[in-house]
Amino acid sequence: MSAETPMMQQYKTIKEQVSDCILFFRLGDFYEMFGDDARLASRELDLTLTSRDRSAENGEERMPMCGVPYHSSEAYIARLISRGYKVAVCEQTEDPALAKGLVKRDIIRIITPGTVIDASMLEDGKNNFICAIYEESSAAGICFADISTGQVYATLLTGEDLSQRLLNELGRFVPSEAVLSEKARLNAQVCAFLQDRLGCLVELGGEGRFDYDTAKKCVLEQFQAESPAALGLDGADAAIRALGGLFSYLKETQKADLSHIRTLDFYEKGRFMELDFTARRNLELTQTLRSQEKRGSLLGVLDKTGTAMGGRMLRAWLEKPLLSPAAIGRRLNAVDELVRDPMRHGELALTIRGLPDMERLIGRIVYGTANCRDLRALEQAIAILPRVKEQMKGLACNLLKEITSCIDTLEDIGALINRAVVDEPPFSLREGGFIRLGYHAEVDRLRAIMTDGRGTVAAMEAAEREKTGVRTLKVGYNKVFGYYIEVSRSYLGQVPDTYIRKQTLSNCERYITQELKEMESTILGAQERITGLEYELFCALREQISGQVHRVQRTASAVAQLDVLLSFAEVARKNGYCMPTVDYSDLIDIREGRHPVVEHMLSDGLFVPNDTQIDCGDNCVAIITGPNMAGKSTYMRQVALIVLMAQVGSFVPAKSARIGVVDRIFTRIGASDDLASGQSTFMVEMTEVADILKNATHASLLILDEIGRGTSTFDGMSIARAVLEYTADKKLLGAKTLFATHYHELTELEEQLIGVKNYNIAVKKRGDDIIFLRKIVRGGADDSYGIEVAKLAGVPQKVILRAKTVLEALEAGAPVGAVKACKAEEKQESQVSMLDRSANEITEQLKTVDVNTLTPIEALNLLYTLHNKAKNG
Ligand code: ATP
Repeated sequence: MSAETPMMQQYKTIKEQVSDCILFFRLGDFYEMFGDDARLASRELDLTLTSRDRSAENGEERMPMCGVPYHSSEAYIARLISRGYKVAVCEQTEDPALAKGLVKRDIIRIITPGTVIDASMLEDGKNNFICAIYEESSAAGICFADISTGQVYATLLTGEDLSQRLLNELGRFVPSEAVLSEKARLNAQVCAFLQDRLGCLVELGGEGRFDYDTAKKCVLEQFQAESPAALGLDGADAAIRALGGLFSYLKETQKADLSHIRTLDFYEKGRFMELDFTARRNLELTQTLRSQEKRGSLLGVLDKTGTAMGGRMLRAWLEKPLLSPAAIGRRLNAVDELVRDPMRHGELALTIRGLPDMERLIGRIVYGTANCRDLRALEQAIAILPRVKEQMKGLACNLLKEITSCIDTLEDIGALINRAVVDEPPFSLREGGFIRLGYHAEVDRLRAIMTDGRGTVAAMEAAEREKTGVRTLKVGYNKVFGYYIEVSRSYLGQVPDTYIRKQTLSNCERYITQELKEMESTILGAQERITGLEYELFCALREQISGQVHRVQRTASAVAQLDVLLSFAEVARKNGYCMPTVDYSDLIDIREGRHPVVEHMLSDGLFVPNDTQIDCGDNCVAIITGPNMAGKSTYMRQVALIVLMAQVGSFVPAKSARIGVVDRIFTRIGASDDLASGQSTFMVEMTEVADILKNATHASLLILDEIGRGTSTFDGMSIARAVLEYTADKKLLGAKTLFATHYHELTELEEQLIGVKNYNIAVKKRGDDIIFLRKIVRGGADDSYGIEVAKLAGVPQKVILRAKTVLEALEAGAPVGAVKACKAEEKQESQVSMLDRSANEITEQLKTVDVNTLTPIEALNLLYTLHNKAKNG
């Protein structure tokens, strides 16, 4: 019979509590994993799998195990978390030296993708959100928390299309972990979006978590409020349940102080512009479509922030454009004031650049995971705050004045850290050496003993040498024997009787004496006491600073806002942006607008600015025609981005802009890569069109690029026309729309429908070639120039010529089936065209030669090449 060791029994009991996690079980200096956890971890972390005898007696049933050193566990945990696993950390909860029998152990924390707080596992300029969703038949509550910074957002969704709106919110916050109520778990659309699109870990919360009374109690306690109304949650029961579910999960997994999470931002419909996932992606707000990088996105252009806090806030602002012209105006005025005061702007930007991440530092302090270096980093940040405040003095606009008053210079906290902690503390909290001299009398006394101890050792060594006459006698120290006296072999005869032999090495002997052992116990006792005491003092200090969490958070948030406004001002000045006028009108009137990202990709001045004038009346729908490559998509995206930037509070790339706030921007652009969803390209296109037509209001902006392209010409054109009529009709939708199409027939609608205007992106034809002018002008395009663009793209001449023949036949009225297939007799013609091609190439090459600089040898070589080409074709 195999008897389990008490420790394995303890392991099993603990493992049962966290069966869905990989259990890191502390054994001495290692975290060990056993059984299936060990197999998985050894595979994921490249660790060697060993085994442990389950039965001490007969060695049967060997249990696989592997381990990592506790001091480097963070990196291993980070790797497991990034691969979507959860890790439970089990620690020894009593000092093994004092334990009677088996050391007590307990889970101290469960680390999950949405709850990591260690700096190494987090991206600086990006929040890491965990969310909870509570769904019922006619409402849903959803909330998001970033526990590394203490921010919490919640909202209540009601009405139709709950799932779609849930997806919009999820797309905005992109959580890495979601706790779902049962009904939400059954919502296949939401689950697929979370798992497949966002790569989010999905947890089933269990209905108990979302019970209303428990949730309400938990929420009121967390946010220290008397009633839901005090938090703005009156009547928002589903949101309360979601929040309750989230905090019950956090408490269960974190087992830590969550008092840094005290402010709730409950936002209701109508505060932010809604943007669905497709629009966010298509407009490349925070990452590019193709490579998913920040570079090349709008964020890439706008982000000149100098701090991680500012970086995160800028991203959040871009994800949540505002709807209130007054709120937008406050930001715009602040940017304007900074743009007009380049001196002050430059100084402030320089001062806050590189300011440590106060938000996450205070998060770790409250959480109890901060070390001395974190405290020092906080002190460094605090030391800069008075200068920031000083440089902000005299700023006139409301928002900047408010920010100034929100910056608390936190001198008391800075002074406390300075008094308590040395300038360059060690990384570990276990070995002491970080409390500053003069902070605590007992630490000073013990430290003196230790310093004296070193002197005493030296003195003893000298005295013993003198006494014994052994010149090479040494007093040394090792962990096994403590202090010892070492005498080399040649002097063994001079060793006094009082020396007690402890160890024999090849060329020396080691001894102890009574006196040496007494000295040792004083020194080592002091050492042990001081490390314990320093740790205690540090914890008390951390606790004391935790109490000030809200002051630090308020200041951090003010600094972050300042950073974003400085960034907007810098980009505005460098890129020649203008301050838009934002109001409640239905106009979008942009003069000389540019695409904020594309203009950077072209060398200076090559980007051609364009005007836009649309409204909900006579200029409601702009039909944009023009060849491929002319710049239609660029133009339409540019309008959407300018509107969005204005509503975020940024200046815009234009000479002037008046923007009536838009409630939503919808986009239907290009082929979607939604193949993973198992739908055809056309199906995806139509689903998106359906969503747009169902959800758009007359205050929305629609960007529709080539609707109906994915099906047969007549079907496609009919759909395009019907959509266009619907959007232009005030009684049906009447929303501002930019509608790019290759169906030139649709331009006839300008004559028939009120509110429709034709535009085209001008090109100039020169011979067989076209020149793109990139200028948007009134009227429909006269031609598609598809074949010319194909030629530009390098499609072989043979195919181009054939396409022309087919086109001519079709234009002459021949049905497609009647165009003869390319036959053998036409080969002759293609031969001719091959010859034509080499003749063209020769001419082209000759045109590019600079005859004046050609050396005789080069001229001869060139002649030789051209001759060959002419001969061989
Ligand atoms: P398609 O119909 O094939 O999708 P398109 O008409 O939408 O083509 P875009 O993709 O918008 O064309 O633009 C093609 C290229 O033209 C862009 O990559 C950009 O380099 C350039 N371009 C577009 N607009 C401008 C502009 N206003 N000034 C300068 N270059 C521009």
